[in-house]
Amino acid sequence: MYDVIIIGAGVIGALTARELSRYELDVLVLEKESDVSCGASKANSGIIHGGFDAKHGKIKSEFVREGNQLFDELEEELNFGFRRCGSFVLAFSEEERQKLLNLYDNGIKNGVNDLSIIDRESVLKLEPHINPDVKYALHCPSAGVASPYELVIAAAENAVTNGVHLLLNHEVLSISSNVEYYSVHTQNMIFQSRVVINSTGVNSDKVAQMVGDNSFSIIPRRGEYILLNKSEGRLLNKVLFQAPKKNGKGILVTKTFHGNLMLGPNAQEILNPDDVSTNLEILEQIVTTARKTLPSFDIKKTIRSYAGIRATSSTYDFVIGRYNNSNFINAAGIDSPGLTSSPAIAKYLVRLVEECGLNLKEKKHFDPNRKAIIVKKQNHFGGSIDNEDPSKNIICRCEIVTEAEIIDALSRGLYVDSLDAVKRRTRAGMGPCQGTFCGPRVSQLISKNNKIPIEKVTQRGKGSSSLPHREDKQFWKKLEKMNSESL
Ligand SMILES: Cc1cc2nc3c(=O)[nH]c(=O)nc-3n(C[C@H](O)[C@H](O)[C@H](O)COP(=O)(O)OP(=O)(O)OC[C@H]3O[C@@H](n4cnc5c(N)ncnc54)[C@H](O)[C@@H]3O)c2cc1C
Repeated sequence: MYDVIIIGAGVIGALTARELSRYELDVLVLEKESDVSCGASKANSGIIHGGFDAKHGKIKSEFVREGNQLFDELEEELNFGFRRCGSFVLAFSEEERQKLLNLYDNGIKNGVNDLSIIDRESVLKLEPHINPDVKYALHCPSAGVASPYELVIAAAENAVTNGVHLLLNHEVLSISSNVEYYSVHTQNMIFQSRVVINSTGVNSDKVAQMVGDNSFSIIPRRGEYILLNKSEGRLLNKVLFQAPKKNGKGILVTKTFHGNLMLGPNAQEILNPDDVSTNLEILEQIVTTARKTLPSFDIKKTIRSYAGIRATSSTYDFVIGRYNNSNFINAAGIDSPGLTSSPAIAKYLVRLVEECGLNLKEKKHFDPNRKAIIVKKQNHFGGSIDNEDPSKNIICRCEIVTEAEIIDALSRGLYVDSLDAVKRRTRAGMGPCQGTFCGPRVSQLISKNNKIPIEKVTQRGKGSSSLPHREDKQFWKKLEKMNSESL
């Protein structure tokens, strides 16, 4: 019997688990995938929005500014990667200037107090590579960029350190209830709890329906991206939007927390919420639109394209609250700016848990801190490939990731057994070669550390495979030799 079961370990589930771990409560997180942050929280723009865009009066507008303001403290405690770089919304005509004024007014209503509209000269002084045809920009210095999946990983690690139970590979299939508690069913287990929180992203309508809540549905909206080399990221510092179009914020151009240039996303309603494919025509449109903002990037420096799926609700707003005054709480339909709002939503969900009748007694030994995995390398770092010292032994050449960092990632409270899970924690495989060099070496470290046969190490967790087919005898012989030598 748990006090609270959280279904879904995206940014909402993980941060809520961490908030709840401040109190003397038994908390369980159930996640269907083999790692945390496998939904929208993995593939998004990573922008910590200023808060001027969410239409005043919507539920979103109540969380976004508060969320933005909580990021400095979160970064100090959890070390996931956050930088307050500021944002511009660009206007290329007088008509678009009116849109900036509308955003400005909306921002003031939402409590964003650092907005200003600046002229062309000031824009180009701050960002010299922007299209010189620009006329004005709405400047929001408090916007920022974060590494979204690292935030989820950090919050989940910290929650586990503070006593939360996390079960990966546990998809919730049904929920039944009696007056006192809910029974949450996964494939082989039943868990009981007094309160249930539904933070299942694109599946949140289906999970709500398990308790009879049919009040909303989810419309999956895919957004595609192009990620370029860090050389192109040097062309800018701020998050660059264009004046909003019919479909919302539109294509943005930004430097990710780790310094890559990122272009996207579009917004396309789709039927299959798992369809993260990208499509050439859309990518071409993204490049064309992005060039209006930043004309000079070199598209040949593209590393990869990818897509994320927004869980847009049929109310076109976040769905947050107790269903029919019960102890089933929705944190559903959290599309953009959900990442920004997540720390504020997590705190609000704790208040709802208290409203459900649970006694929130603070823990004496709550530890808010979690150390970074990625170590900043100075010029005198002196690492090399096949160095005997794990802190100097370079496993990933592109991103300069050492054996020590990978072992650290494998030795935290969360079980890590795929190349992508290591990639999200350490950046091994994120660079231009996309893991061609480091993939087998990372596999070997996972196999050795977790004491599992190397062929059990997958690219993305259950149901995926990263390694060549068995027919490639030469590859396998080599790999097995490496493995037996190191085990
Ligand atoms: C293209 C795109 C761009 C975005 N850009 C931004 C941005 O720049 N700034 C911003 O603030 N926000 C942005 N967002 C929004 C932000 O990413 C989301 O609001 C946020 O990640 C939602 O988190 P979540 O925890 O609700 O959902 P998710 O991250 O999707 O997590 C849900 C979790 O539930 C699990 N799950 C589902 N069903 C079950 C089940 N039955 N049993 C167990 N587990 C289950 C899933 O596997 C998943 O891990 C963007 C989103 C997208 C897609």
